[in-house]
Amino acid sequence: MSEFERDVVPLRQEIPMLPRVGVGVDVHPFATDGRTLMLGCLEWDGETGLAGHSDGDVAAHAVCDALLSAAGLGDLGSVFGTSDPRWSGAEGAELLTETVRLLGGDGWMVGNVAVQIVGERPRIATRRGEAEAAMSAAVGAHVSVSATTTDGLGLTGRGEGLAAIATALVIRR
Ligand code: MG
Repeated sequence: MSEFERDVVPLRQEIPMLPRVGVGVDVHPFATDGRTLMLGCLEWDGETGLAGHSDGDVAAHAVCDALLSAAGLGDLGSVFGTSDPRWSGAEGAELLTETVRLLGGDGWMVGNVAVQIVGERPRIATRRGEAEAAMSAAVGAHVSVSATTTDGLGLTGRGEGLAAIATALVIRR
């Protein structure tokens, strides 16, 4: 619960508790160590992996950030910490499950989540339904997955990495 809710909302009891939205963005560069891509809680055989402290799953990380943002619980960096060895190599699904557990402990349940992946490769359309199923299972609520490119512009257009942007809606239990 944020300072605003603790200090201000109790003074305005006539206002009902509304659902809350949050936003999250993540970017990782492609790795050079030959690792397999983890994206949208799926393993993508034959696709270049993403570098990072964890498995580099930008879609999962953007969703974690959106969920934490919606609940007013900070962000991925402050909650999981890149220096914490517990999360070294962590899979996106593990981070999502832990994030939803934290939200639950603070009285929030997830309404729905949307995440858009930005990049030239892989072609998300081929496994979009599979990614939605895997991410929804990890979050325990519907996660819609979409994708776009940047017409060759920027770091994703040059094939240097992938980005994802997410929004989440959470409801007070
Ligand atoms: Mg990340």
